[in-house]
Amino acid sequence: MKLKFLGTGTSQGIPIIGCDCEVCTSNDLENNRFRSSVLITTEDEKKILIDCSPDFRQQMLVNDEKNVDVILITHEHNDHIIGLDDMRPILFRKKKRAMSIYCQKRVADDLKIRFAYAFAEEKYPGAPSFQLNIIDKDEFKIGNTKIQPIHVFHGKLPILGYKINKTAYITDASFISDEEKEKLKDLDVLILNCLRDERPHHSHFILPEILELNEELRPQKMFLTHISHDFKLDKMKDLPSNISIAYDGLEIMC
Ligand SMILES: [Zn+2]
Ligand SMILES: [Zn+2]
Repeated sequence: MKLKFLGTGTSQGIPIIGCDCEVCTSNDLENNRFRSSVLITTEDEKKILIDCSPDFRQQMLVNDEKNVDVILITHEHNDHIIGLDDMRPILFRKKKRAMSIYCQKRVADDLKIRFAYAFAEEKYPGAPSFQLNIIDKDEFKIGNTKIQPIHVFHGKLPILGYKINKTAYITDASFISDEEKEKLKDLDVLILNCLRDERPHHSHFILPEILELNEELRPQKMFLTHISHDFKLDKMKDLPSNISIAYDGLEIMC
């Protein structure tokens, strides 16, 4: 399958509005980051979007992507869901009644509040429709592709990562239990959030924790995402050989 990073930045993106730090003013386009999201193209040509960021519209346009079949949501924070209204042109073009979304029950309840107009009985013409599928099993299938939810913590909030074949996408985590780590051993690709290179954060991994996880889980390849402007540029160069910093538009085969 193919995995494209549509966005690799933390909740405010990079550059941050009005910030004149070294990272936000960098000329290197790899330091421009939309909010975090990936688009997967499966072997049977299904387009699976993980999270729908505030930048979703721009992400689709700059990558010349036209289609989404299914959305997997990791959690309900704004930077992971608020682009959902922009499913409208995709639903319209495909003459689809509703976009299929997979998420936890708590997330589904939150989506019904945040996007109340999409769930109203009498809807404004043209409003989007979402079909919510609650994840309550250890695995489920989208087309021929097996999806395994990975239960992690974002501070105190229990959220989901997703394992698809031998690739796992985990964003916004700060804790992974030993039991869930078992599912993350022997991976070809492990994608993890890494907010910055130092100073612990209450709800995000930082680089020293990532380096420990790399030693413990030993993925063939690790990509870091959900990066903030506090991740110093020189620290990005000095990483173990299997770890790369993801950037917007990066596409990998996995
Ligand atoms: Zn986030
Ligand atoms: Zn900055």
